[in-house]
Amino acid sequence: VTIADYGSQAILCRAISLAFPGEAIQAEEQGSQFMTLVPDEQREQVIQLVGEALGESVTEMKIVYWLDSGHGAQSERTWVIDPIDGTKGFIALRRYSICVGILDKGQVVGGVIGSPGYPRSDGKEGLLFQAQNGDAYVEPLEGGTPRWIQASDLTDARMIRVVESVERDHANLEMMARVRQAAGLAGAQVESLDSQDKYAMVACGDADLYLRLPREVAPKHKAWDHAAGTALVMAAGGMVTDIDGSPLDFSLGPILLKNKGMIVSNGRIHERVLKAVRETLGAEWGL
Ligand SMILES: [Mg+2]
Repeated sequence: VTIADYGSQAILCRAISLAFPGEAIQAEEQGSQFMTLVPDEQREQVIQLVGEALGESVTEMKIVYWLDSGHGAQSERTWVIDPIDGTKGFIALRRYSICVGILDKGQVVGGVIGSPGYPRSDGKEGLLFQAQNGDAYVEPLEGGTPRWIQASDLTDARMIRVVESVERDHANLEMMARVRQAAGLAGAQVESLDSQDKYAMVACGDADLYLRLPREVAPKHKAWDHAAGTALVMAAGGMVTDIDGSPLDFSLGPILLKNKGMIVSNGRIHERVLKAVRETLGAEWGL
């Protein structure tokens, strides 16, 4: 965790609680951890930087209050926040994203992904993705006209582009290679990157498949690592399921207790990948 995680979450939670007072927020960081884990000097930095970003005077008490706002609240709508998704990528100057998913009675209905490192056609970097009312859009991070986006319609194995996590503890890379082979995608181009930018790539047709196979039986995936991305890919006409084809269940709180892994695709190749997962891991994983 960095000071940016806390600063980003304080700003997001403040904005949401001002616009939608009393609504539930599930967010990755906690005020108590900010007070106990972050050294004095760095807490001071967060206070100063958040104050500069907001253009108002900020105190330590306000930061803690914002970090925890909406925590434990009961409402039909829940905001699911990863203030910096891919913190290791952020530290290493790789990809990261700022993710807000929206649940309505436990169902994913919308989301926003800010992707500062996403390469653009104009040679610059930085895109803002959003899913709303069943449609997905992208615009430049600094603002501009939103463009409607759709997942790709590719099915030809030679054209399929796969994305995976960089972090080895996130997913079983060796198992994923076996699944790709079983799906006839052994020759597919595979790119590793951090954060929910992987979901964004599938949503806008820059990739066709994102596989995340677990390394353990009860992997405890966090809602904030997947809610915004799931909303975006579904709205763009793609598919997001667990490795057995069931939907991701966000109704059980911050941990996806019922889910083992993620198969995220353009939709067209989803059945083929599910079949490959069953053939490869079925016995082992009871699929
Ligand atoms: Mg995070």
